[in-house]
Amino acid sequence: MSSLEIRDLHVAIDSKEIVKGLSLTINSGEVHAIMGPNGTGKSTLSKAIAGHPDYRITQGDVLLDGRSILELEPDERARAGIFLAFQYPSEIPGVSIANFLRAAVQARMAEGEELEATAYYKRLYQKMDMLKIDRKFTSRSVNDGFSGGEKKRCEILQMAMLEPKFSLMDETDSGLDIDALRIVAEGVNTLRGPGLGVLLITHYQRLLNYIIPDQVHVMYDGRIVKTGDKSLALELEARGYDWVKTELAHA
Ligand code: ADP
Ligand code: MG
Repeated sequence: MSSLEIRDLHVAIDSKEIVKGLSLTINSGEVHAIMGPNGTGKSTLSKAIAGHPDYRITQGDVLLDGRSILELEPDERARAGIFLAFQYPSEIPGVSIANFLRAAVQARMAEGEELEATAYYKRLYQKMDMLKIDRKFTSRSVNDGFSGGEKKRCEILQMAMLEPKFSLMDETDSGLDIDALRIVAEGVNTLRGPGLGVLLITHYQRLLNYIIPDQVHVMYDGRIVKTGDKSLALELEARGYDWVKTELAHA
């Protein structure tokens, strides 16, 4: 069993503090949703955990299984089991998904260890069958001319192949159409299990109709201001974020 503990995290971009003391613990097997209005720092949080160099952690810590990951480079964090699904994945014309994933899996292996082709394809096809992805899909160039839904499918397949301990999925304001939403939901529901923890960032309550979270956190102005179960998402849908703001003002 693994844990990802975010402890009193403060994150600044340039000299502006965006995340202002956020604490949260996710255990493997759990799905946590973070919801909150635009500009609240949700994407900043996920990028800081993944190790994006523009996002400076000024205070607090992020611990994977009790050990701080803040000194690790982004690729080392990935190898330790952190996966960041991109909100806007890059297009890589000329590189097939099959070759891209092979390089990604190889990169996570120990120095001198060689990924064997037949074993790789066996595993790839296993994952694709599990996710109901057509075999033809992996001969296409990574995200090149993909629809929103296909990009999401590519992210989910990466996640399935890399088998992270914790997956950070930032879906905020990406204008997910219903097709993309369904693909993300089916992917997460297929992959969720005792070995995976998910931090699902969204401001669509809709997504949480398909992925039932164990906990819902409301983020506002760089902090988590409210935590509850899936009914909190419904309450937010019905009452909006102003309700949380008003409650805060009177707290
Ligand atoms: P959310 O994902 O909740 O909408 P973000 O984390 O994207 O919020 O943004 C929080 C704040 O940080 C916003 O005011 C945004 O303008 C600012 N911000 C985010 N990324 C950058 C960046 N790379 N450079 C400068 N400001 C940024
Ligand atoms: Mg965002």
